[in-house]
Parts: sequence; structure tokens; C-alpha cells
Amino acid sequence: MKTAGKLVVLGSINADHILNLESFPTPGETVTGNQYQVAFGGKGANQAVAAGRSGANIAFIACTGDDDIGERVRKQLASDNIDVAPVSVVAGESTGVALIFVNGEGENVIGIHAGANAALSTERVDAQQTLIAQSSALLMQLESPVESVLAAARIAHQNNTTVALNPAPARELSDELLSLVDIITPNETEAEKLTGIKVASDEDAARAARVLHDKGINTVIITLGSRGVWASVKGEGKRVAGFKVKAIDTIAAGDTFNGALMTALLEDKPLDDAIRFAHAAAAIAVTRTGAQPSVPWRNEIDDFLA
Ligand code: ADP
Repeated sequence: MKTAGKLVVLGSINADHILNLESFPTPGETVTGNQYQVAFGGKGANQAVAAGRSGANIAFIACTGDDDIGERVRKQLASDNIDVAPVSVVAGESTGVALIFVNGEGENVIGIHAGANAALSTERVDAQQTLIAQSSALLMQLESPVESVLAAARIAHQNNTTVALNPAPARELSDELLSLVDIITPNETEAEKLTGIKVASDEDAARAARVLHDKGINTVIITLGSRGVWASVKGEGKRVAGFKVKAIDTIAAGDTFNGALMTALLEDKPLDDAIRFAHAAAAIAVTRTGAQPSVPWRNEIDDFLA
């Protein structure tokens, strides 16, 4: 039996260690930073938080290590309105880590250790078969093993669970996986990776969307940063502009958009209204720093739209 409106997110959890320094160290050099913080991130967790805070009934399939930070992350996710029962604690593994240097120009270099995220195996996905089958929609990204993403998409497809894929970070994907996807939300870089079309204009976006429709995907939403999105349903496309705000940090803009979009779609909002809701959530997020700290709650989105 389906639980109406239920969302399941499958994806990554990372602890982001962010060090701000004047300039990046060169090989062999040590540079002292001027600010350091640990913030919770990972595309899966960010999108789960965006869905949870914006009001979805959501469960999260993910893995943490059996370390202190994993415990802190699980507690934080639970307080963000997320069912963390399907988050596995992997013995002997560390929770996923992103080591982020940000220089004086605001540029960043990032090294990632997948840690427990790499343990999100097809066996762990199979163990969540009932949850996926009972949900109305499944939202995934590409920071988890791709064979596990495929396994989850197969289960969802067989059980009439809508498959939403945010194909980030950019990589090529098999036709089989794409054929199982109902809603895809690449940014410009990811759209180019998947279609070979450089997305610089609305016409390019329309062409890229057509390639993805031809792979069997019903709804293609290409996010275009401050320009909004190109939204295309079965080849009928248009641009839906976002909100004008003073952006100070676009980390997790796309993640916030994706989580909030699913919340709205599962409330049976028409696609245009759902995109407007997601644009509002992402617009708020870009006016704040950090990944999860920047993600708004439902009342903030409703106030923004009022
Ligand atoms: P990603 O972070 O995945 O690269 P985008 O940069 O395309 O994703 O942004 C995703 C969404 O975030 C946009 O569709 C829009 O809703 C919002 N957004 C991003 N940048 C801005 C901005 N400068 N001003 C307002 N909204 C923005």
C-alpha cells in the first residue's frame, strides 16, 4: 500500500570541514586559516533537510560511520523532520567528509572522502524495498554508488514510485538508468555531461531537454542559477524565472531547490507552482551561508511567497 505524499530520499551524508584562508597553499606549503567551521552537508542530506524543513513526510536512506560526527549528524537530521530509521551506521567506517578550502576571493577547492557513503550497497538498497515501494516518490543524487542508485530506481519503477534524479555531481549515465527516471533536475554542467549540449541559452536548454525526453524522461527541469529553470514536460518547455535576491553563498542552492520541489509536488501542486515554491526556498538559501544551515523552514518559504 502506498502512503500518499510520502517521500524517500537516498543519498550521501558528509561533514564539511571549511577552512577560510587568504590564499590556497601550494604543494609543500602550510597556510594558517582565519576561520574554521564544521557544517553538515552531502547532497543527499542537504536535499533531505530541504524536504523535511519545507514540510514533506520524508524518510532518508543513507549511511554514516560509527563515529561521533555520524551520531551528531543523525540527531540533527531527526530534528529536521526526517525519519532516520533507514540511516545505517557502518561499523569501522568514518562518516563522509568534505575538506573545503575557501580563499579570499571566495573560490573553493574541495577534497572528498566518501567514507560510509561508499557502503550504501545494493544489498542495503534491497533491504529498503518495502519503504521505496510504499513511498510516492524517490529522490536521489550521484554521490552514492551508481549501481545502488540504479537498484533503487528499478524497485521504485516496478512499484509505481516516482523516480526523481538530481544528476549531481556531473557524470555520464546509462540509458537504462535514465529510462527509469521520471523527473530529472540537472544544472547546466550536468545537462551538458548527459547530453553533450552546452547550455548557454534557452534554445540550448530546450535541445538538451529533448535529448533527455528521448531517453524516456517525462519531466526535465534544467536549473540555470539566477536565471531560474528550463522546465520541460514531454517536450513542451518554457523558462520559469527565479526570485531576485542578493546572493551571498550559492552552496546547496540546487539541493534546496530539489528538496522543496519534491515537497510541493507531493502536495499535488501543479508543476509551475511547485517550481515557484522551490525557487523561493532556494532564493532564501542563497542569502545565507553554508549548506544545511542555509536551508529554510516552511514558514519562511510561505512568508517569502506571501
Ligand atoms: P546548482 O547549485 O545545483 O548548480 P543552480 O545554480 O542552477 O543549481 O541553482 C538552483 C536554483 O537555485 C535556481 O534554479 C534558483 O531557484 C536558485 N538560485 C541559484 N542562484 C540564485 C541566485 N543568484 N538568485 C536567486 N536564486 C538562485
